[in-house]
Amino acid sequence: MESEELSALLRAAAPLIELAVAEDIGPGDATSISTLPADSVLHGRIVAKASGVIAGLPVAEAVFSRVDPAIGFVTHVADGQEVVSGELVADVIGPGRGLLAAERTALNFLQRLSGIATLTRSFVDAIAVTSAAILDTRKTQPGYRILDKYAVRMGGGLNHRQALYDMILIKDNHIDGAGGILAAVTRARAAYPDLPVEVEVRTPEELRQVLAIEPPVDRAMLDNMSLDQMRQAVALAAGRVPLEASGNATLERVAAIAATGVDYISAGSLTHSAPALDLSMKVALPQRGPVSRQASAGDLGARVAELKAAFGDQLVILGHHYQRDEVIALADYQGDSLQLARDAAQTDARFIVFCGVHFMAETAAILSKPGQHIVSPDPSAGCCLADAASLDGVQTAWDLLGTAVGDADAEFTPVTYVNSSADLKAFCGRHGGLVCTSSNAEKALRWALGRRPRTFFFPDQHLGRNTARRLGISLEEMLLWDVDRPPDLGAIRAARVILWPGACNVHQLFRPEHVQAIRRQFPGIRVLVHPECKMEVVDLADDVGSTSYIIHQVEAAAPGAQWAIGTESRLVERLQHRRPEQRIFSLADVPPFCRTMAQITLWNLSQVLEALAHGEIANEIVVDPDTTRHARLALQRMLDL
Ligand code: SF4
Repeated sequence: MESEELSALLRAAAPLIELAVAEDIGPGDATSISTLPADSVLHGRIVAKASGVIAGLPVAEAVFSRVDPAIGFVTHVADGQEVVSGELVADVIGPGRGLLAAERTALNFLQRLSGIATLTRSFVDAIAVTSAAILDTRKTQPGYRILDKYAVRMGGGLNHRQALYDMILIKDNHIDGAGGILAAVTRARAAYPDLPVEVEVRTPEELRQVLAIEPPVDRAMLDNMSLDQMRQAVALAAGRVPLEASGNATLERVAAIAATGVDYISAGSLTHSAPALDLSMKVALPQRGPVSRQASAGDLGARVAELKAAFGDQLVILGHHYQRDEVIALADYQGDSLQLARDAAQTDARFIVFCGVHFMAETAAILSKPGQHIVSPDPSAGCCLADAASLDGVQTAWDLLGTAVGDADAEFTPVTYVNSSADLKAFCGRHGGLVCTSSNAEKALRWALGRRPRTFFFPDQHLGRNTARRLGISLEEMLLWDVDRPPDLGAIRAARVILWPGACNVHQLFRPEHVQAIRRQFPGIRVLVHPECKMEVVDLADDVGSTSYIIHQVEAAAPGAQWAIGTESRLVERLQHRRPEQRIFSLADVPPFCRTMAQITLWNLSQVLEALAHGEIANEIVVDPDTTRHARLALQRMLDL
């Protein structure tokens, strides 16, 4: 960030930080003071709980520093950058009392500004194919003007005037008071010759008057005009004066407004109605053991191997296919999530360290034997696909399905992809449904539709759609659920398969253009993709299958075979190294990696083993008995297929 922009932001934030700290901490954080030793040092990790655009990191840093200058703040993304659910945003390390006292205030700033940036980016993306730009307004939180407008810039929007002093904006009341448009503009220019002038117009006649002014005004604002009126105004102005559409610029309508040809669209909602971006801070383990975070991969790996050896067969490490190579090298088992969970449950190990994302460790906990403990090196490593569906959201949809068809339990079989929370697996167990994997989704869906007339499939819309089509179900018989605007009852009754709108951020990055481009470059190449990819990509591929299937196909192929593989890129790279006699490429020009899988590192793996070596089970993943019982039922139905 330009240092001038940063200075302005921090100058504007300083009094707000003072107010917020006085309001929230006052004479002291009673809980932290009473529960933490005065010399405790903590390591907090700020993690995104939803996808969005980050803004306000320097302000959050300033809050921590204001509460205790000894707190260090290390960012992992920059303002303006998009994050996905589960992604690490920043590390905060320092005196524990100050760190926890500052947490809420820092997050309040960061969440608000990131929410504005995220909403702005949605507007900007919606009009990306046009040349129009998104502007903010003065509808900002009192005192937050500079911060809110900074967040709009981070979202890709432009700032309108900062305040009443830096631009002339002549509105209807000024025109009426001055005795006409020309009179108002003339007086304004005489009083403030250096300020830009914009005039609000409500009719074509007013616009004609503005266009006749010499020299031309800097901009005309089309106030609350219909789309037709805007199109007429664009034709009338013919590029002589830039036009700004103002009023009723909602996310649903903004693309249509931009298509009229206006130059700017201002939206008050960017700053007055943006929901906060969900971010949280979790305290990580303090450093344990002799090897520091800065140690080389070789030293960290050697320490993990040493600790592992000390446990013998009391401990197993599971490594998902998408893990880093250095983690996989230390794993006792490598595989997909369900296979790993089943492998671990076959052992007599007391400690099962799952190097994968959260739902995978939960699945291992569900299938574990009594006395086994499942540990995650980083329990904040989530999965955007699993996080796309919550129990609350699915239950709300289920209730509406029941309203539409009379009894949801008689009409719909719920099917959850294994990439889902334990809660949702249990939901399927309770409602006569089952879990599926990408290997057996076809069998599972066939079973579900044989049992009841319709299926509710979550959370992966692409796997659900691709699988249903393989069973001969047409797109017209499928209904994509909209969480914000649930479908009407008639649409539900007409559907055979309801799809939850979740998707994997990695697999949905593959596009039909990638298939076309790689085929042009390497004629005859076989395109092999995962069924979490979009339907349009699956349709163009030569073959589709689960991660295990992809590995098997490559392993079984002859030297010289050529593959373009549409799945997570760490796995593709591993296959390239393992089969150098074949030509193996990622399907995408920019190979997509799973960022949350990458949260598992040698460092945090070493730290949970150090804790175990000291008799402490850190980061244990526990699923309550009732959820476990019902989730097992849903998994068992799948295993019985
Ligand atoms: S690759 Fe996709 S589905 Fe798998 S863990 Fe990452 S985000 Fe989740």
